Amino acid sequence: MWTFDIYTPFIVPAAALLGLLFGSFLNVVIHRIPIMMERDWTLFAKEHLGLKPSAKEQQPFNLMKPDSHCPECGEKIKARHNIPVISYLLLGGKCSLCRTHISLRYPLVELLTAAAFAVVAWQYGASWITLGGWVFTAFLIALAFIDADTHYLPDSLTLPLVWLGLLFNFADGMVALQSAVLGAVCGYACLWLLCAAYRLLTGQTGMGNGDFKLLAALGAWLGVGVLPVLVFAASLIGIMGAVLTKTAKGQAFAFGPSLALAGWIIFIAYEPLQQLTDWWLNASGL
Ligand SMILES: [Zn+2]
Repeated sequence: MWTFDIYTPFIVPAAALLGLLFGSFLNVVIHRIPIMMERDWTLFAKEHLGLKPSAKEQQPFNLMKPDSHCPECGEKIKARHNIPVISYLLLGGKCSLCRTHISLRYPLVELLTAAAFAVVAWQYGASWITLGGWVFTAFLIALAFIDADTHYLPDSLTLPLVWLGLLFNFADGMVALQSAVLGAVCGYACLWLLCAAYRLLTGQTGMGNGDFKLLAALGAWLGVGVLPVLVFAASLIGIMGAVLTKTAKGQAFAFGPSLALAGWIIFIAYEPLQQLTDWWLNASGL
């Protein structure tokens, strides 16, 4: 269960602090990756059609460039206005120049990342699993928010998360390497099959390819054994989410955030879940 060792009182606050900084970077990732994807498509299409890209499209746009600025007045965000959460509070949630309201989501993503990093450190102490867990957490938060915003799960995040999961378990992570490899393959295949069956029955596409890749990544991190529980838990979370957000019937609903949340909970509660399964198998005499 919970790891209490002499490092715990130090590593948990340190993890929260690191989470705040990572959260600040995740805000940039969540905002920019969809724009970067659309720019790539536009440039690709224009090149294909023999059209000249506009001056704006030729300027570099990535996670580093251009510097962060206020979308309203273009004022560059100074280093002292870039301190996670604290700057937001000091500025009263407004741009320092034009006083335009800054979305509350920025500090919330920072706080969420800080809390999630702290929980990982609390559960796994000073260990390799904690380090891996922080990477896992950061990717899942970025993917969940991007999917909720745009209904895309970018390959530039899902695919590295698959490879990182395999590497994590290659180096004595959460599960045996065999289980991780099977988890990645079966994660992709089971959603693909489910989707193919759904399309055959209803003539509609229920899910995007990004969901298959995200489940492949979760399988690579958590192993093949948890996939049934994972898909079941994600579906429950998804249904609750759809009810809470009053998603109308037939309206597209992003499944990525549910998968990400279910995967993260299983990562944290891996051992208790295992004990529960063992206990249930024993109790039912299997
Ligand atoms: Zn401004």
